[in-house]
Amino acid sequence: MNKLTILVVEDDRPVRNLITTTLKAHDYRYIQAENGETAILEATSHNPDIILLDLGLPDMDGVEIIRKIRTWSNVPIIVISARSEDSDKIEALDAGADDYLTKPFSVEELLARLRVTQRRLAMLKLDSAAENVFVNGDLRVDYAAGCAYLKEEELHLTPIEYKLLCLLAQNVGKVLTHTYITQKIWGNSWENNIASLRVFMATLRRKLEATPGSPQYIQTHIGVGYRMLKVG
Ligand code: CA
Repeated sequence: MNKLTILVVEDDRPVRNLITTTLKAHDYRYIQAENGETAILEATSHNPDIILLDLGLPDMDGVEIIRKIRTWSNVPIIVISARSEDSDKIEALDAGADDYLTKPFSVEELLARLRVTQRRLAMLKLDSAAENVFVNGDLRVDYAAGCAYLKEEELHLTPIEYKLLCLLAQNVGKVLTHTYITQKIWGNSWENNIASLRVFMATLRRKLEATPGSPQYIQTHIGVGYRMLKVG
């Protein structure tokens, strides 16, 4: 039983119908908006659980909607857009979107992204119950002790690797951009910090992943950033 309420923001009627038909078939409730103004109105009045957002809308840009909504709400926002450039994805993610789907998309992909977001919502609820410990598959981060464990073996991480791991863990399921991560770790996003990030990520993965070549925990979004996946 899903019974989450999804706000579908899309001006293209056939695409909107495809999305709402899919949602209905999978037991989601939905509301719809075909422009930015209605989207913001529906988001404030119905408090949806997840927002699916097109960027190219007749009255305003979707990125502007993300910025407006983020001033009062942390609702997960999944962008669905024909814009496929990395810079567009980064702009939307930096504005506060949680995930990004490029048109044309498959219905299965959309449903998978919704499930990821749902798990993330569930984890956030669990996290607030057991705030000081993060568990994901064999990984356990004890924030209070400042230690991370894999299969109950302590991981010997450098301070930066530990910071990186915590940042990804606290945002499990969410794509974090290079800019966002370097801002959080070093306080700025200079080019050389983005290069360092790759190096630290590689060393973190060697300690965390059984096969660093096909990572289980940390997924790379080439040209965009990284995401910690919910495992098992
Ligand atoms: Ca559009």
